[in-house]
Amino acid sequence: LSTAARAMKSDSGEFGGAVIASSDVTGLVEAIAAKDDLIANVSHELRTPLTSILGNLELAQDSGDEVPQRTAYYLDIAHNNAERLLEIVSDLLLSASAALSIHPRRTDIAGLVDSSVGSLSAQARAGGIAIRVDVPSPLWAHTDPQRISQAIDNLLSNAIKYSPEGGTVTITARPDGDEVVLSVEDTGSGMTPADASRVFDKFFRARSARESEVPGTGLGLSITRAIVEGHGGTISCSSELGRGTRFTVTLPDHPAPADLPA
Ligand code: ADP
Repeated sequence: LSTAARAMKSDSGEFGGAVIASSDVTGLVEAIAAKDDLIANVSHELRTPLTSILGNLELAQDSGDEVPQRTAYYLDIAHNNAERLLEIVSDLLLSASAALSIHPRRTDIAGLVDSSVGSLSAQARAGGIAIRVDVPSPLWAHTDPQRISQAIDNLLSNAIKYSPEGGTVTITARPDGDEVVLSVEDTGSGMTPADASRVFDKFFRARSARESEVPGTGLGLSITRAIVEGHGGTISCSSELGRGTRFTVTLPDHPAPADLPA
C-alpha cells in the first residue's frame, strides 16, 4: 500500500485537517519483481553457453594452428562480440538481482583507481583522451574492493566513452571527515539537466548517447548506484550539455587504518 498525507493549514498557519491518499500498489510491485525474475533467469541461462562460445573461440585463437589471415580476423571479431555480449548479460543479471552482495574490508581506494586507469588506458589512448589522477596513496576505506572497482570502472569508462578526441578525464578522491569523496569528471558531450537527473534509471540513455554511435545498455549507472548505496554512500551527477559531466561518490566510514580488520 502506498500512502501520502498532507496537513491542511489556514493562511495564519492554523491546522484545519489533513488529506490522506492511499493506493494499492501490490500489483505493480509484483509485476516489477516478476520482470526482474525473468531477466535474471534468462541472463543466467544465457551465460553458460556464451562462456563456452568464448572459451572455444579463445582455444581456436591460441591453438597455434596455422590459420588463414582472414579466418583469424573473423575469429577476432567473433571473440570481441562474444566478450561484449557476456558483459551485457552479466550487467543484466546483476541489475535484476534483488540484493547485491557486499563484503567490505580494508581497501586502498588509490590502488583501485590505479588498476581501473590501467585497464582502461588503452581505450583512452585509442580515443585520444588524457586521464589525470589526483588521489593520495594509500587512501583507506572500508569497502568491497571488487564492487567499488566495478563502480569506478563504470564511471571511468563512461567518461572516456562519452568524450570526443582531445578530452580530459580527471579522477580525484579525498578523505572528508568520516567519508571518502571520489569524483570522476570529463570534458565530454555532457547532458541536459533533465537527462542528467535520469542517468541512474535502469535502461536510461540520454539523447546525446542515443544519437551518437556509442554503444550501451543504460545499465552501468544503475548498477553503480546500487553498489554505492549498498555501501551506505551517495552518488550524484552534474552535467552541462556540450561541456562535460561530473559524478561524485561519497563512501561513508573512513576509519583509521588501525581500526580496520585486515
Ligand atoms: P550506457 O551503457 O548507455 O553507457 P550507463 O548506465 O552507464 O549506460 O549510462 C546511462 C546514460 O548516461 C548513458 O547512456 C549516457 O547517456 C549517460 N552518461 C553516463 N555517463 C556519461 C558521461 N560521462 N558523459 C555523458 N553522458 C553520460
